[in-house]
Amino acid sequence: MIPEKECDSITLKGIGASPGVVIGPAFLLDYHKVKIPKRQIEEVEIDHEKRRFINAVSEAENQIKQLISEIPKEFRKHSGIFKAHLLMLKDRMVYERTLRLISEEKINAEWALNIALDYVKALFEQVKDQYIRERVGDFEYVVRRVQKLLSGSPSVDFSQLEKPVILVAHDLSPADTVQMAKEKILAFVTDMGSRTSHTAILSRSLGFPAVVGLENATSSILSGETLIVDGLSGDVVINPNDYLLKHYIEKQEDYIQYRLDVIQYSNLPAETQDGFRFKIKANIEFLEEISFVISHGAEGIGLYRTEVMYLARKELPIEEELFLAYREVVERMSPFPTTIRTLDIGGDKLLSSVSQCHETNPALGLRAIRLCLKESSLFRIQLRAILRASAYGDVRILFPLVSGRLEIIQVKEHLEKTKYELQKEGVAFDEDIDIGIMIEVPSSVFLADVLAKEVDFFSIGTNDLIQYSLAIDRGNEYVAHLYEPLHPGVLRMVHRTIEAAHEAGIEAAVCGEMAGEPMYFPILIGMGVDELSMNALDIPKIKRLTRMSNQDRCSSLVRDLLEFSTAQEIRGYLLDFLTADFPEEFDYSQGLYPDFVGRDAMHVPLMTGMKKSVLKPVTE
Ligand code: PEP
Ligand code: MG
Repeated sequence: MIPEKECDSITLKGIGASPGVVIGPAFLLDYHKVKIPKRQIEEVEIDHEKRRFINAVSEAENQIKQLISEIPKEFRKHSGIFKAHLLMLKDRMVYERTLRLISEEKINAEWALNIALDYVKALFEQVKDQYIRERVGDFEYVVRRVQKLLSGSPSVDFSQLEKPVILVAHDLSPADTVQMAKEKILAFVTDMGSRTSHTAILSRSLGFPAVVGLENATSSILSGETLIVDGLSGDVVINPNDYLLKHYIEKQEDYIQYRLDVIQYSNLPAETQDGFRFKIKANIEFLEEISFVISHGAEGIGLYRTEVMYLARKELPIEEELFLAYREVVERMSPFPTTIRTLDIGGDKLLSSVSQCHETNPALGLRAIRLCLKESSLFRIQLRAILRASAYGDVRILFPLVSGRLEIIQVKEHLEKTKYELQKEGVAFDEDIDIGIMIEVPSSVFLADVLAKEVDFFSIGTNDLIQYSLAIDRGNEYVAHLYEPLHPGVLRMVHRTIEAAHEAGIEAAVCGEMAGEPMYFPILIGMGVDELSMNALDIPKIKRLTRMSNQDRCSSLVRDLLEFSTAQEIRGYLLDFLTADFPEEFDYSQGLYPDFVGRDAMHVPLMTGMKKSVLKPVTE
């Protein structure tokens, strides 16, 4: 029991997105809030104030023109949104109104501009057309840019930091995350996001503890305050008292000890007690992860997400750069196979250049294979690099977000043309390279028997399959509690896909986050999955659990689960199974899980294998 508050410790509840416990100073990254100074000015200052405003607008113009000039050729046609921003800068409603307010109201430029923005917002609110109404965000964007120039607010300079910090932000795009990771960062804390948002997945790959979906972190935390970030439970403690500090230091030590214990399972095969053997592979994004992947006992790379080389930079990578990176992964993983997924940009992962293509609903927009088929030169460069790397080891190509057979046919045409080109150039590659598709759209589940005839393997991307089948945005903290891997619809889809693959004689892998969550492994084993691919960190614990289980029991569990019609029934039955078969590993007796289920259904099992005392919520 925690003593009554001894100081102003506040605990915020979020979603543990990447495990680990750290303590350190907060650093608030606030792109969105620009302080607006409000000042009455003298008559004699009016001209000066107007000049300040005019100069700031022309500086903003230069910045935007510069951005447009940096858009790679292939994406120039998407520069329209920036061109619209240029027009908005000089729009009468903002530009002239601000100048008028400065002289008529005798107020400083920042204040005048803010009033002009409020006027525009009010006007837009009355517009019926939702699309036009939402364009007010663009006005806001350009006004904030000018406000920043007026107030001279510096962009964040991490090199000035003396010691590592915990980064607190409203939201971080995957590109921001990659960028920030190079700085002195201990952990990430964000208002937005869920466990399967790409930013959360990236933090796990980067090895930073992270808590996301806190909703009010940026309004509750001040830069410099001491924070405890518990990426296991999703708690963030602001200004911890001595009791809490002691508790979390113990938890930190226990977690480190737990990692040391579980890692001993790394080099054992993933085999159940009754002899069912499947492959455990790793999901990676960075070359730097390879040694970790090998030391954690991966039998190959099941998902090499290739977006990182395209993010957080202005120009696209050239073929040689991609080839060298792929070759390094392939050679270092040899003799194990490497599954390279082609570019899955779009949705919540945007290229700085592609992001100019404004989409109201990016998750359903020009994403992944659709973007590649449209921007075929970009696609072909990547295919060339992958094929060239296939001369150096066992490579498989995986195509994301395939929704039907036509896309596979188109993809194969590109692949054949690329092979032909390389042959003509006398460049070596694996002529029989295996190709697979990600099953992450419901239509491909229902067409699985048809699609299985076209490819060599399936890889089920449960993160997106859940998003698209339940219509739940995987990155949205407000619906994170509805993101339900145990939904009967989801389980049936996964089951059906594995069955269709087996009927066609091809393998089915699961590479979404479900694969590495201890709670779901008996289901996937029971369905007879051929491969699980996960963050390397999760491999030893899944191996340990697998070696304690019996596939026959898991299959009969699946038969029972498929009879239920609600996720609640499935969850209850599954928890009973886990508690009965793995009493030491899954302990829900302390009333722990309902609390977590409320926040994030995928959260519960993260701590599997840790001492029960460590599992106790701190508020008990
Ligand atoms: C998935 O959707 O499950 C998946 C593995 O792909 P990503 O998370 O990169 O979208
Ligand atoms: Mg996906």
